Amino acid sequence: MSAAPRIAARLVAVHNLKPPVDVEALLQEYADLQILDWSMECDGLALLSAERREQVFLKANAPARRRRFTAAHELGHVVIPWHVGTLGCTEEPGASAGMEEAEANLFASHLLVPDVFLDPFRDSYVDLDEVLDILAVADVSAQAGIIALRRALLPGYVIHLDALPPIESPGTVVPQGGVRALQESSVRTGRKLHQGKLVTWYQLADASPIVEEPRPSREITNLLKSTLAKLHPDRDVRAMCLSINGIVGGALSAQRVSDPSVIYGVLVQKFTGHPQFGHLLEVSDFHRYLQQKAATIGQSRQGETID
Ligand SMILES: [Zn+2]
Repeated sequence: MSAAPRIAARLVAVHNLKPPVDVEALLQEYADLQILDWSMECDGLALLSAERREQVFLKANAPARRRRFTAAHELGHVVIPWHVGTLGCTEEPGASAGMEEAEANLFASHLLVPDVFLDPFRDSYVDLDEVLDILAVADVSAQAGIIALRRALLPGYVIHLDALPPIESPGTVVPQGGVRALQESSVRTGRKLHQGKLVTWYQLADASPIVEEPRPSREITNLLKSTLAKLHPDRDVRAMCLSINGIVGGALSAQRVSDPSVIYGVLVQKFTGHPQFGHLLEVSDFHRYLQQKAATIGQSRQGETID
């Protein structure tokens, strides 16, 4: 975890923060806070000095959720030790205008929508209509909320919000062909008013029951090799195996999910539309390989081992 999220997580733990976080009250514990009307575009200002207590100014006439995010962002400047000087900030939750601004935004996201709050959505494919209802409690803008939620979602979600570029969960393979392709590839979609904005979401992957059992890794690799040899007798099967194993490992390294049916869903999403190996999903023995992999990895993640 990088520094800004870690510092936010520590504050969440120390103050036992739960959404909706009373961020202006919290900010007052760390800085002198003044909330003023002004006409400048700037949403907030932090005066950070080693000589006296930090000062923060927030724009009073900003929309409430925007002001909450700005307050959390300015708190980030105050508590991240290497942020110094006078910082004028204009809110764009997804923007990364300079490292300090990006760090303060990341801090704000992790403070207002803490990781512990997102944990229930982390290990399975979830219905986003229900998740958005819960997320609304955090009282952040739709954009800030979805950017935060993205941290927890498994691969396979695409979320449209107004005219913004689509927001995808990490590892998502997006089909070519725009909204129509998204609709055709989705296992579930939804459209919902969230914090006053219309959110349209597409879920491209899902947990899928598996019939294969855990196996020793050599046996699984042999299944993959024989599957590939049948399909591509003229190619270097060993190199293909290595690449495929690498893709499987990479797809799961960022996840802690241990349910084999969810792992299988993540793996199918990873190979869907893959330029080199996507065609393998049409072969039932490749699904047997993925299922055996999922069953074995799931078992080892649940604390058991197999030789
Ligand atoms: Zn800033």
